[in-house]
Amino acid sequence: MVTQINHFINGKEVSGGTERSFPVFNPATGEQTGRVVAANGAVVADAVSAASKAAQGWADTTPLRRARVLNRFLRILEDRASQLADVIVSEHGKVHSDALGEVQRGMEVVEFATAAPQLLKGELTENVGTRVDSYSTRQPLGVVAGITPFNFPVMVPMWMFPVALACGNAFILKPSERAPSASLIMAEWLKEAGLPDGVFNVVQGDKEAVDALLHHPDISAISFVGSTPIAQTIYSTAANTGKRCQALGGAKNHMIVMPDADMDQAVDALMGAAYGSAGERCMAISVAVPVGEGTADKLISALEPKVRGLRIGPGTDRETEMGPLVTKQHLEKVRSYIDAGVAEGAKLLVDGRKFRMQGYENGFFVGGSLFDHVKPNMKIYKEEIFGPVLSVVRAPDYATAARMINEHEFGNGTAIFTRDGDAAREFAHQIKVGMVGINVPIPVPMAFHSFGGWKASIFGDHHMHGPEGVRFNTRMKTVTSRWPTGIRAGAEFVMPTMS
Ligand code: NAD
Repeated sequence: MVTQINHFINGKEVSGGTERSFPVFNPATGEQTGRVVAANGAVVADAVSAASKAAQGWADTTPLRRARVLNRFLRILEDRASQLADVIVSEHGKVHSDALGEVQRGMEVVEFATAAPQLLKGELTENVGTRVDSYSTRQPLGVVAGITPFNFPVMVPMWMFPVALACGNAFILKPSERAPSASLIMAEWLKEAGLPDGVFNVVQGDKEAVDALLHHPDISAISFVGSTPIAQTIYSTAANTGKRCQALGGAKNHMIVMPDADMDQAVDALMGAAYGSAGERCMAISVAVPVGEGTADKLISALEPKVRGLRIGPGTDRETEMGPLVTKQHLEKVRSYIDAGVAEGAKLLVDGRKFRMQGYENGFFVGGSLFDHVKPNMKIYKEEIFGPVLSVVRAPDYATAARMINEHEFGNGTAIFTRDGDAAREFAHQIKVGMVGINVPIPVPMAFHSFGGWKASIFGDHHMHGPEGVRFNTRMKTVTSRWPTGIRAGAEFVMPTMS
């Protein structure tokens, strides 16, 4: 049965848009399970109109009342997390425990946002001049929009909307057309939690919907997460149309393994970080950099059997470690990167291209792949593959390893495995990457810190959620007041200075 996946505008599901729609697949079976409608300009205009009408009332709702809605939403999520995880598994393909982890990380941002009254507290200075006081407040922007990728259908939208809502904005979500269903569940549960109609809306679709959002004059800010070329275009278009924008892009995350690292710990960390979620994570480790030939040989001999032994299967199977890729097109793309690595002369130690999943022959499965002797000039080193393909680049010393990371186009996440505090400190201090792990392979910041990379992994000034999310979703106003005399003393024509 193929289900139609609709928009959610002004508190209810609506269909409509262009005649266009996109098939949605179960990646494990390869079957089409859904058909998501694509919004055109008129649908986007309806969503913006509903959001604009609701925005003022929501902005005027006290931060404590807004927080209470988010608190109720959090409780619903706690009760029904597994249901949301099932939907992620069915459209993304990741394993259920990983999908639950995704929901948990999203819920933590909701939890953070329930501190709205505290987060929105301003600053006051008494007596900036004689009998003159100044205070700063942070006020909502109005209607803001979020455009999200396929790989975290719940967590990435939750990097955005809980903070935007806590700050008093109305929100329009444009989810990935490859994993759209979770957006509607979140919309229903927000409504159930007491969010007024129109404050949270979903428009489905692709570039057409995104362009309509980017050019709509009543949208104040755009949060984007996806691939770098699209992030860059979104950022420059938003700048041209006068919108605030944070656009997070792709990644190529390196993990340095120093000779003194705990090798068992490093190998386990690499397995999870490279092959978890079939490598479809922006914080996946896709390059391992062992320092010294001895370290490299030890690492490879421990990794190779583990990669061969990966338990691959449908995400619904609780024993599975790695599920399928999201679509057939993506599967072909990942296979073609493995072809390119072989053609460029890297040594393919484990070849996932021919893997077929018994009983799921039409699923989008690829086996885990492992390359040794990858060089920085190779395509598989330079580009993001976004699949379960780990490249090992051997470095003669720490300085070479660190220089490679600093010279790479991307700067999302990185990690070092070592027992040497001095090396770790040096790494953390000088590496040109936004999120750094020390014996932590996937250093995704918690909700009360902020998430974001450097270089081509981000366009814009603000990272997501945490204090940066609050800054992004509000604008500052500073009030200077004097009671009740002063002004009667006559006009002043010089720049005010405080006496
Ligand atoms: P994508 O760039 O293809 O799509 C992201 C969003 O942009 C989707 O909603 C899509 O519909 C929309 N879109 C696609 N093409 C567009 C166009 N031409 N114009 C306007 N909008 C367009 O990304 P994806 O394949 O869904 O996700 C994977 C990518 O996202 C990877 O590169 C990954 O590294 C990145 N990602 C980054 C982070 C991060 O925090 N930096 C997090 C998750 C994913």
